[in-house]
Amino acid sequence: MPNLAIIGAGVSGLSAAFQLKQANIEAQVFEKSRGFSGRAASRSRKGCRYDYGANYFKPDSDEVARLIFQSLPTDDLSPVPGDISVFDEDGNISPGDPEQNAQAKWNYRSGISTLGKLIVQSGQLDVTRETRITSLARLDSQWWVNDEKGREHGPFDAVLLTAPGPQTVELLTSVEEFPPVPAMVRELSKAEYYCQFAVALHFSEPIKMPGDSYALINTDRGHGLAWISHENRKCGRIPDGESVLMAQLSPEWSEAHYDDEPDSIINSAWKFASDLLPDSLPRPDWGDTQRWRFAHPHTAADPAVLQSGQEMGLFFAGDALVGKGRVTRAMETGLQAATAIEAHLAMSKQG
Ligand SMILES: Cc1cc2nc3c(=O)[nH]c(=O)nc-3n(C[C@H](O)[C@H](O)[C@H](O)COP(=O)(O)OP(=O)(O)OC[C@H]3O[C@@H](n4cnc5c(N)ncnc54)[C@H](O)[C@@H]3O)c2cc1C
Repeated sequence: MPNLAIIGAGVSGLSAAFQLKQANIEAQVFEKSRGFSGRAASRSRKGCRYDYGANYFKPDSDEVARLIFQSLPTDDLSPVPGDISVFDEDGNISPGDPEQNAQAKWNYRSGISTLGKLIVQSGQLDVTRETRITSLARLDSQWWVNDEKGREHGPFDAVLLTAPGPQTVELLTSVEEFPPVPAMVRELSKAEYYCQFAVALHFSEPIKMPGDSYALINTDRGHGLAWISHENRKCGRIPDGESVLMAQLSPEWSEAHYDDEPDSIINSAWKFASDLLPDSLPRPDWGDTQRWRFAHPHTAADPAVLQSGQEMGLFFAGDALVGKGRVTRAMETGLQAATAIEAHLAMSKQG
């Protein structure tokens, strides 16, 4: 029986499971969706492959770089060329930060979700998919996790929670009668998330971005578009002669239009893009949209406060602890949680 339950097969939960597996600690990962990799997500449509969550990653810690470049296969890895330029609320475009643009941006030819898949395959991880965990229970110093179909899984010595903050708060509030829980709920509630629509716009002809840009990002938060990028810049994704632009509507716009129909969202993304891009933009021949309720956090929960759960085997990871949506920073929290879990399980064995 695995010692540990991990809720969420996003990059943070999978990175934790991977490190623990190296230390001979088995984890059972529960994932509500059909896939791996969470918001590092890719989709295929009509011969095109595009990322509808995270666009790329920059490994900024040695531990994460070691995992990506040494522990996982690298043959599908590929840098994303081109700069990220900036635009303001009036649509004025200017060059981006040279320091940021000098840093390599990474992705996989087969899509960013390959990151999660490779961690699962290389680590031979045990992931139970299409299983949404709805509550946690603690009995005789052990944990049980219950899914929406009423099944109980366990017992586990420890649980690692990795979903976006508000979803983890829901799970935590199901745990009764433990003094540290209300303080942990309060702390996790400090991680507030923006909602956001991501939209793929497909054109049956080549589309140009200004200059050598791969992407344009709005820096004063006054524009309806937060981001637009050229998916063709990623190796092997879009057939020759076709183009896919990935647009992200601003959090404010997304919140105000949260219940709009997909066609209306796609049309608005196209209108914003055609106003912004200097060359005229034809109408897309198809579009695809994803509504992210919890796209990225803009504030963080303090990991030090959440440590009060460790004594009873409750651990946390994910971008709620970072306060920014970053693939590699989320992975880092997973690796840190794994180190803390190793220490906790070793102590429990001794005690
Ligand atoms: C539109 C968009 C663009 C972005 N762009 C970038 C970018 O360019 N670069 C970058 O570095 N980052 C970017 N990010 C942020 C990045 O994707 C995230 O910070 C990172 O993927 C978070 O990983 P995580 O493991 O913390 O969470 P997640 O990826 O959300 O993983 C949590 C997992 O838990 C599962 N889950 C939730 N609740 C339950 C439950 N009750 N039971 C079972 N499973 C559950 C979810 O399905 C999910 O798979 C972007 C995000 C979005 C949405």
